[in-house]
Amino acid sequence: MSKLISLDDTIAAISTPIGESGVGIVRLSGKDALLIADRIFKSKNGKKPSEMPSFTTHYGWIVEECLLPDGVKSKDSLQPEVIDEVILTVMHAPRTYTREDIVEINCHGGAVSLKKALGLVINLGARLAQPGEFTKRAYLNGRIDLTQAEAVLDIIKSRTSRSLDCAVKQLKGDLSGEIGLLRNKMLNLSVNIEARIDFPDDVAGSLRLKPGVNDIIEKLERLINSFEWGQILREGVSIVICGRPNVGKSSLMNALLRENRVIVTPLPGTTRDTIEEQINIKGLPLRVIDTAGLAGEKDYIGYLTAKRAEVMIAEADLVLFVFDGSRALNNEDRSIINKIKDKKLIVVINKIDLPLMLNLDRIEKILKDKKIVKISATKKIGLELLEDDISEMVFQGELITDN
Ligand code: GDP
Repeated sequence: MSKLISLDDTIAAISTPIGESGVGIVRLSGKDALLIADRIFKSKNGKKPSEMPSFTTHYGWIVEECLLPDGVKSKDSLQPEVIDEVILTVMHAPRTYTREDIVEINCHGGAVSLKKALGLVINLGARLAQPGEFTKRAYLNGRIDLTQAEAVLDIIKSRTSRSLDCAVKQLKGDLSGEIGLLRNKMLNLSVNIEARIDFPDDVAGSLRLKPGVNDIIEKLERLINSFEWGQILREGVSIVICGRPNVGKSSLMNALLRENRVIVTPLPGTTRDTIEEQINIKGLPLRVIDTAGLAGEKDYIGYLTAKRAEVMIAEADLVLFVFDGSRALNNEDRSIINKIKDKKLIVVINKIDLPLMLNLDRIEKILKDKKIVKISATKKIGLELLEDDISEMVFQGELITDN
């Protein structure tokens, strides 16, 4: 193992995002964490961190210790420089996140004070932690298993309360517990089989393997499906809005976002590139992508944007295919229909506030079995129904069955 990733090192990092904030945390973990803290923390009550009881917090100052070149403390007029006024928390091994001694220093959130505090602990022998190294130590020291380590990252990255719930359950060990149960069931079965092979005369009764195996298979399948569902919660469903120019794609994007994110004009071809935004529908994280027209590739930029839209559509979990209800079906619509009719899609008939000119029977015939929702993006009609249909497709697993 290289020196850089030695488990014996005491590691340190700024554990909060860099920027201006009220509080920022420098975290230390390892066998020297308390000794390093002793040398830079001056508590109000004069206690050293190594003398403080576990899980206690203390008020004081981070100071740049005045050391002579040989490491001996200066006794003369050299005054230690105060870096920041802080709250320091001490946690003794083994009942900590990493199972090692941990010290957390709550500094003020400015980049300079945090970096100075980190610099001090590095000078005193701590090593800069690699990304995720605190959690890696928690795993290597047996505090959490791999599924829980993944859950920590999921909690950090959660974008909706639903994905947070899911990650917290995983961290609490729900997934590990289920896997453990299944493992025990399999071990039981294999013990029973081996006993009958090794001691056929001593084991009474016949062994009915099939129900036990089927039960395990069913539960494993459920777990595999829940992985895909978890992936949707983690990464979000990607929804691409497409349709010919001027049908109201950008207006629909703005309506779903509830803000004027995309420029909307009566001129066809205003959107010249794909635009992506995050939204949250009923606790589901969605990535909504507004594409420029797929069919009207009049110039080189139009050609490029149409190509990019095609890629986005190919990768999308769901397509919202928008038609202008106030206009008859035309060749551009038909050309797009041919390109995307096999995708998972919802047909969105927009501009229903205007007189209907689109032949809906024809649309139903060409795009049979597809959901059709009528809306007005600008008058905010039918948007809830559209959101219901989107979440229904996600919850009923329609978007994950053939991924
Ligand atoms: P895109 O080219 O498909 O993105 O279409 P836009 O969203 O830019 O809209 C084109 C034009 O249609 C704009 O003038 C919008 O104000 C108008 N529009 C969009 N949705 C509606 C709607 O529901 N009703 C009406 N009456 N006009 C709409």
